[in-house]
Amino acid sequence: MSSPVRRLVEWDATRLSGLANAHGTPLYVQDLGRVRENYDRMAAAFPDATVMYAAKANTAKTVLKTLVEAGAGIECTSAGEVERALSAGCPPERVQYTAVNPPEEDLDYAVSTARDDPGLTITAGAEDTMARLAERGYRGRLCLRVNPGVGAGHHEKVSTGANAKFGVPIDRAPGLLAEVADRFDVVGIHAHAGSGISGEDLAAHRELVSRMGELARETDLDLEFVDVGGGFGVPYRPEEKPLDLERVAQATREALGEVDATLAVEPGRYLVADAGVLLTRVNTVKPAGEELVVGVDAGMTTLARPAMYGARHGIRSLAAEERETVEATVTGPICESGDVFGTYELPAPDRGDLLAIGNAGAYGYEMASQYNSRPRPATVAVDGEESAVDRRRETVADVTRLERGVPWL
Ligand SMILES: *Cc1c(COP(=O)(O)O)cnc(C)c1O
Repeated sequence: MSSPVRRLVEWDATRLSGLANAHGTPLYVQDLGRVRENYDRMAAAFPDATVMYAAKANTAKTVLKTLVEAGAGIECTSAGEVERALSAGCPPERVQYTAVNPPEEDLDYAVSTARDDPGLTITAGAEDTMARLAERGYRGRLCLRVNPGVGAGHHEKVSTGANAKFGVPIDRAPGLLAEVADRFDVVGIHAHAGSGISGEDLAAHRELVSRMGELARETDLDLEFVDVGGGFGVPYRPEEKPLDLERVAQATREALGEVDATLAVEPGRYLVADAGVLLTRVNTVKPAGEELVVGVDAGMTTLARPAMYGARHGIRSLAAEERETVEATVTGPICESGDVFGTYELPAPDRGDLLAIGNAGAYGYEMASQYNSRPRPATVAVDGEESAVDRRRETVADVTRLERGVPWL
């Protein structure tokens, strides 16, 4: 079985430097072989469960195809993601669309897709959403998203399990399931606690799963699956231990108890995070009083997590590592004081040095923006000996492509 984590130091510096020199920076590199390993470990830990990849972590077609071929289903948060899952070759019966406050067009698309491909499952987390589905004549596969009242996560912004935005309150669920059973083909119940199941907070995970198990036993419906969501954590800091997946799987089975339905899990980050790095080059080295500010060509528009969640990503210098170590504040090129990756011990950086930012495979490119007219970076897929640009770098022309102007100017 593959290693439970790939650390930033384990990436081949020569190969990464070669890719950066060939394709420029900032550059995302995604190792599809590692994505496959992560999936295989997850599938082995949960042998009786359905593994649905939460596509929002990384929707690159190469990543989706890799996971679909490996056997994963795809959990989608929007019509756009459903379209991408299908176009990556995912059979509709392995696609789940989880509608969170869905726009009209998303429901239109999902309902018409389900009409053509009755295998698609739509997950609704509000009675209102069910009414909107019924108005469209939908009678197909429906899963109820429940708000379990338990949250998990490293930051309030990634905790969803106790947030009223997501799912119907669990005490309302049995009644609602009975009510809608003659309107839809009710196939499952679903909950997602947020991102951050770690060794320490398995208690919250157990609690969520056990509530879902109870709900499954309480309803008279013949459910196909009980989906307990994603949130499997990855170590962002070198001192953090990898998740003990076997232990999580065992805790999950214990907490679920006997149910007459298949377990489903929805890992996003876990499958793709450590399979990706972001390569960036040093533009500016500036001593500022006590501080050494190191400006790089990636910023909050390339990788938003540090600015958005205060997330910590490892940073490694790919330049000569025998240099004396200094403390450096690594910042991006965006005119925002929040555009900072953090303070790191690094071999004394020089202009032109390459740095690798770790665990960039999840919620990295996905959250990239064009703020400050920064074109989004290219991505390179690697797989064993192979490598290819799977998404070209944007240009300023791409950034301005949608502007049509107005007749009076
Ligand atoms: C985001 C999300 C996931 C995946 O979360 P990770 O922390 O990336 O594992 C799973 N299920 C749902 C419904 C989600 O919204």
